[in-house]
Amino acid sequence: MPPNSDPSNALPRIPFAVPFTTAPGFAALGERFFTRLPPTPLPSPYLVSVAPDAAALLGWHGDAAREAAQQQAFIDTFGGCAVPDWADPLATVYSGHQFGVWAGQLGDGRAIRLAEAQTATGPWEIQLKGGGFTPYSRMADGRAVLRSSIREYLCSEAMAALGVPTTRALSIVGSDAPIRRETMETAAVVTRLAPSFIRFGHFEHFAAREDHASLRQLADFVIDRFYPALRDQSGNPYQALLREVSLRTADLMAHWQAIGFCHGVMNTDNMSILGLTIDYGPFGFLDAFDANHICNHSDQQGRYAYSQQPQIGFWNLHCLAQALLPLWREDTGDSEDARKAANDAAAETAREALDPFRDRYAAAFFRLYRGKLGLQSADDGDEALLTGLFRLLHAQRVDYTLFWRNLARISGKDGGSDAPVRDLFLDRAAWDAWAAEYRTRLRKESSDDAARAVAMNAVNPKYVLRNHLAETAIRAARDKDFSEVNRLLAVLSHPFDEQPEAEHYAALPPDWASGLEVSCSS
Ligand code: AMP
Ligand code: MG
Repeated sequence: MPPNSDPSNALPRIPFAVPFTTAPGFAALGERFFTRLPPTPLPSPYLVSVAPDAAALLGWHGDAAREAAQQQAFIDTFGGCAVPDWADPLATVYSGHQFGVWAGQLGDGRAIRLAEAQTATGPWEIQLKGGGFTPYSRMADGRAVLRSSIREYLCSEAMAALGVPTTRALSIVGSDAPIRRETMETAAVVTRLAPSFIRFGHFEHFAAREDHASLRQLADFVIDRFYPALRDQSGNPYQALLREVSLRTADLMAHWQAIGFCHGVMNTDNMSILGLTIDYGPFGFLDAFDANHICNHSDQQGRYAYSQQPQIGFWNLHCLAQALLPLWREDTGDSEDARKAANDAAAETAREALDPFRDRYAAAFFRLYRGKLGLQSADDGDEALLTGLFRLLHAQRVDYTLFWRNLARISGKDGGSDAPVRDLFLDRAAWDAWAAEYRTRLRKESSDDAARAVAMNAVNPKYVLRNHLAETAIRAARDKDFSEVNRLLAVLSHPFDEQPEAEHYAALPPDWASGLEVSCSS
C-alpha cells in the first residue's frame, strides 16, 4: 500500500525522544559525494527487534530503548516511513573491485544515511539498509530481505561482543511486502550504526574519475575526523593514512582468523576505511575446521576462502594505495623520464605505507593465538606448535569453536584429564601427540590450570553465530515469532559467559545444517 493511502498517516505522530544531537558529518562534503533523497516507506512496518547495546551507544539506556521502540514513530523512522526533523537522508556514491575485477560505479544502492548522531560515545552515522531505491541501485530493488537483515543484525552485535571491530545494528523493522530473490521473501530494514561507512571504494571512485580535488577532500575529511593524530606527525598525512588503515586492516584480519569468521565478499567496496567489519552478507563462522572453507556459495573460485582473507585484505589495501597515489604524486614535467620517475617515487611512498602490514598481521595473529592457547609468553616454538595444530584440526575437521573452548579444560600435567577436547578428535593418537607438545609448552611457563582456564575462556567464545542458529531464528521470524531473534541476540551479547540455559546454542551443528547454502543474494 502506498504510504499516503494508509489512514494512520493522517494521525499526529507521537515523536519518540531522541537522546542525541546531530551534525552534518559526511553531508558537509558536498553533493559530489552523495544524493539527498528520502527512504521509500516500508509498507505497514512492524518492529522485529531492537538491540539494547547498540541503542545504548546512541543514549537509550536500559528500558529506554525498548520503550522508544514500541512507539509508532520509532518504527516509522527506522522503517523508512517518516523522515524525522533531525534527519538529512542521503545515499553516497562509491566504486570498487568485485572479485578482483574493477566494477566501476556502485554506491549505496539500498542504504540511506539518516543522520550523524553526536553522542557521549562519539559520532554515529545512522543508516537504513534496505531503505529503498537510490540513484545507485542499478538494476536491483533497493530492498533487503528479512533473512539477510536478521543475519546482519545478529552478527554485527555478536562481533561487537566478541571484541571485533564492526559496524553495529540498532534495530530491524519488518514488513509483509514481498521481495523476489531465489524465492519470494519479505522486506526489512536493518538500521546500522558506525562512526563512518566510508569504504576503500569511496576513494577508488574519485581516483577513477581523476577528480583529485574530491579525492583530497575525502582524505582530509577522514583524517581530520577519524585520524587527527596523523596531522601531528611530520611528513605526508595521506601516506600516514594509508599506513594507519593498513595496520587496522591487519588487526581486523587477525581477529577474523582467530574467531573463525569468514566474511565471504571482501570486495574493496566492502572494506571500511576505519578497519571495521562491514556489509555482512554470506558470512559464516567455521564449524568443522577447514582452512579453505568458502562460506559464500557464489564464490566458486574460493577467492574469499577463510585462509585467503589476510592476503585479500592486503590486496584490497593495494587498491586503496593506487587510489591515493595522486595525493602525493609530484608533477615533475611531461617528459617520459620525468613521468616515470614521478610514478616510481609515488609507488615507493605507497609501498612504505603498506610494508608494515605483514609484521603487524603476524604480531596480531600470534598475540591472539597465544591468548587462545592460554600462553603468557612468546616462545620460538610457538609457530610450529600452531602449525601442527592447524594441520590436525584441518585433517580431523574438528569443530573450531568447541575445540578452543574445550582446550581450556585440559590439565597441563602429563596424563592429566583432557577428555572433552580429546573426544573431538577421531584420530586420538594424533591428538595425544600434539597434546604432549602443548603440555610441555605449558610447563615451560609453569602454567597454572585454573588461572589459564579463566584467561582462555575470556578469549575463546562459547557462543558464535553459527549458520544454523541464524537459520532457526529466521524460520521463526517468518512466522512472526521474533522471540528467537531476541533470545539469540541476548546469548551472543555475552559470548564468553557460561549460560547454562543456552547450552544448546553452543552445540555442534545439527545434520540439517550441512545443507544450508548462503550466497550473495540478500
Ligand atoms: P554487496 O555485495 O551487498 O556489498 O553490494 C554490492 C553493490 O550492490 C552495492 O553497491 C549495493 O548497494 C548494491 N546492492 C546490493 N543489493 C542491492 C539491492 N537489493 N538493491 C540495490 N542495490 C543493491
Ligand atoms: Mg557492499
